[in-house]
This record gives sequence, structure tokens and C-alpha cells, in this order.
Amino acid sequence: MARIVMKFGGTSMAGTERIRRVANLVRKQAAGGNQVAVVVSAMAGETDRLVNFCREANPLYDPAEYDVVVASGEQVTSGLLALTLQSLGCDARSWLGWQLPVRTIEAHAKARVEAIDGEALTSAMEAGQIAVIPGFQGVSEDGRITTMGRGGSDTSAVAIAAAVQADRCDIYTDVDGVYTTDPRIVAKARKLKAVTYEEMLELASVGAKVLQTRSVGLAMKEGVRVQVLSSFVGDDAIPADELPGTMIVSEEEMNILVEKGEMERQHVTGIAHDKNEAKIILTRVPDKPGAVAHIFDPLAKAAINVDMIIQNVGRDKGETDVTFTVPQADLARAQALLEDKRDDIGFNRLITDSKIAKISVVGVGMKSHAGVASTMFKALADRGINIQAITTSEIKVSVLIDEDETELAVRVLHTAYGLDANDEAA
Ligand code: ADP
Ligand code: ASP
Ligand code: MG
Repeated sequence: MARIVMKFGGTSMAGTERIRRVANLVRKQAAGGNQVAVVVSAMAGETDRLVNFCREANPLYDPAEYDVVVASGEQVTSGLLALTLQSLGCDARSWLGWQLPVRTIEAHAKARVEAIDGEALTSAMEAGQIAVIPGFQGVSEDGRITTMGRGGSDTSAVAIAAAVQADRCDIYTDVDGVYTTDPRIVAKARKLKAVTYEEMLELASVGAKVLQTRSVGLAMKEGVRVQVLSSFVGDDAIPADELPGTMIVSEEEMNILVEKGEMERQHVTGIAHDKNEAKIILTRVPDKPGAVAHIFDPLAKAAINVDMIIQNVGRDKGETDVTFTVPQADLARAQALLEDKRDDIGFNRLITDSKIAKISVVGVGMKSHAGVASTMFKALADRGINIQAITTSEIKVSVLIDEDETELAVRVLHTAYGLDANDEAA
């Protein structure tokens, strides 16, 4: 007997027919003697629809009211799944974020889980009841509904798993695991049997949306065992208990898998892309101490995350151009803030470009292997893809390119690092 958290994403919950399939998967786990809590997303497309309603109602919407609206999608699916489970003869009930409660802190629309009282949930599960929990939503200190940022149901699931000390948190989605890159872009992408927390964290943060970044950080901190697997399986599929998906593992566990020959050691584990950033160029900024602080201070105060930064070699007359990226969703705000500070910063022109993409290669193998970055630059150059900016970390290299070249760049790099299915390790 195990205690399991099962999470189902939007595609898996899209419509009553699919919810019935989900209910059958849940019933199977419960019938096997396991204690089960289920975390669900809104139906695919529903959150986008609700976000648009907010924008139409008031473009400068109050984030607290936005949360009231967008959290409703998960309320619907949690009730529907509980109803469907009951129709299959299971004892099931829904637990909304404020009922558990899932306490969150920080801003509305990007709330962070602070604490979940797992007691009531654990008692219900021990009594054999299936708990159905809407993902994405929580409650603030002052009792208002909050949401955890797009893709936040993954984080809800991991937080619930930590709160009830679950043996496993199974993330059911529309692909059967974590691949070397988005399998919808590269047909030759390979499913990984395991990936380390560190790599998954980096991959998620640079655009592999299969898991929300925060969910991976939380799983790593709390030691939650996470598996990514498909909800679109037939009756004859290998059961989740036999780990048919991708397990997120520690580096020690990965070393054991490599020693046993169950995983190959690659320099690059995965490739991700992100089209949600925008580039800002400020021209002819004074090339003197403090100039850069004038640019980034107001952005930091407005909680706008700046990612890649380049300060070009100074021009004549003590001036330089500064280029950086911000999330596309924050571009208008960033632009307004910078225009407002034009005199303090002293720039000449502010140029923006949303038609860019960030391509990143990630792998713990890079720590001990030189040449990963140069392979990337050469492979892109050979196909005439221009690099506009570069950033690196211990286990990642990212480049900024023209958005139109995204798919080509991902495919070229996937081949260059020997990741294509049927290829030998690089
Ligand atoms: P859910 O609605 O279940 O939360 P998401 O759409 O958030 O699902 O995440 C699953 C999607 O993530 C897949 O359909 C796939 O296109 C995308 N994806 C991006 N990178 C990867 C990757 N490396 N491995 C698997 N899927 C990926
Ligand atoms: N429904 C939310 C979203 O679309 C949360 C989630 O699905 O994880 O972002
Ligand atoms: Mg998701």
C-alpha cells in the first residue's frame, strides 16, 4: 500500500469523457489498496478564456479579483471529477484551496505556497476517501483566493504530496514523460527514464513547460518523488507503480542508474526554447559607474525579472548601448517605467523586439566537460542562425535568436549533441 498524489493537467481534464478516463485511472490506484489524493487543472483552454475575460472587463485589472475569476476553472473540474468518481462507486470529495487550506504568500497571480495543513486530508485518505483538490489555487493570509502562476497545478500537487508525506507524486499529462526536447517540435526527441532535479529545474526555468519551475524546486527541497507520465493510456499499459514515465531523481540516484547501464551519461540532457521574452535596447547610455543601476533599479522595484543582459563595448564620447530581456507580459510596463526615468538614465533611443526566442541546452555533464558552448555556436553558425545574446550557468548555455528560427535551431542542436533517437551518445 502506498500514499500517492496523482495530478492531471488541462488536456487530461478537457471534457466529461476525458474526466471519466481520469476517474478510471484513479479508481484503479485506489482499488489497489493505495491512499489517493488527486490534484486537477482546469479544462484545456479554460484558464486562457478566463484571463481574457479579466482583460476585457478591465485592462488594468486588480490581481486579487483576477484570481477570483481564474481560480474558478479548477473548481469546476475538481467537482466534476469527484462526481464522476462517485458515479463509479468510489468514496470521493473535493477540497477547495480555502477548505484545506493551502496557505500562500506573495503577490496575487504568482502566489507561493507557504503551508498546507495535511491533517484533515490525511485522515480522509486513511479512511479510504479519495481527495480531489483543485490545483493552482490557494488562500492568502487575509482569506482571499490566490493563484500560483500559469502551470501552477504542478506546484499544488508537489506541495500536497509533501504535506501528506506521499510516497510518490505522479504528474499525468499529454506526453508520456520528459523528453530530450519538446516532442511536439522534434519528432526524434527521446524519452528520458530519469532526469535530475537540478536539470529539470533548469529545463523548466528556460521553457520546458512540462513541469512548472516552482514545482521542481519544491520537490527538490522537500524530497518529493515525482514521476511524469501520460494519462492517455490503454488498459494494457504498464501501471504507474512500475514507473513507466520519467522519474525526477537526485544526482546520487542518477549515478547509480548510469552505473547499472540504465541511463547513458550525456553532456547535454535536454534542449528547451522560450518565446515569451522580449528584448529591450537602450542606446547611447552614459558609460560611467551607476548608469546600469539607474536602468535596473526601477525594473526590480516593479518586480520585473530581467534575464539576459549585454552591455556593448563603449562607443565614442563615453556612451554605450545596453541590451536585456524581460518577460513579454511585462514589456509594456518596463517600457513605461524606463521612459519615465529617461532623464535619470540618459539614454537616446529605446528599441524593443518581441520576435525573439531563447534556446537553452542543459546537462549536469557540462560541469566536467568543456566544449558544449562551442558545439552550440558552431552548429547554429553552420545553419546561418545569428546569436544576439548569450548567458551561461554551471549546467546551462542559453542563446537569444530570431523567433522564426526557433524550431530549426532546436532541431539542429538536438542532432549536434547526438540526442536524436537511435543516435549514439555524444
Ligand atoms: P498539462 O496541461 O498536463 O500541465 P502542459 O501543456 O503544461 O501539460 O505540459 C506538457 C507539454 O509540455 C507537452 O505537451 C509538451 O509539448 C511540452 N514540453 C515542452 N518540453 C518538453 C519536454 N522536454 N518533454 C516533454 N514535454 C515537453
Ligand atoms: N489552469 C492553470 C493554467 O492553465 C494551472 C495549471 O493548469 O497548471 O495555467
Ligand atoms: Mg502544465
